[in-house]
Amino acid sequence: MSETDLSGQYVCPNCEYVYDEAVGDPREGWPAGTPFDEIDPDWTCPDCSVREQVDFVPIEQFEGNDQDGNVISAETRAAAWGAKTRAARAEAQREEQQ
Ligand SMILES: [Zn+2]
Repeated sequence: MSETDLSGQYVCPNCEYVYDEAVGDPREGWPAGTPFDEIDPDWTCPDCSVREQVDFVPIEQFEGNDQDGNVISAETRAAAWGAKTRAARAEAQREEQQ
């Protein structure tokens, strides 16, 4: 793994919020490009705000259930989130150019 690889995505196993290193979460104080391992270990998930530290899971390792209780593979989730992530990245790039 190289130091400049910022393609990591990490999933909150509680609410399925995704932290994307390339996008960051500026609302939370993490600008785009903040590596996950530089985030404050006391940071809690912005969506479900659990008080104890959430052990975010690398998206490649995450498997969850859909609303019918069917297991969704990491590949399926990655594909679904990919579209959302691309939109977020495009927006981040527009903001950088202003
Ligand atoms: Zn969460």
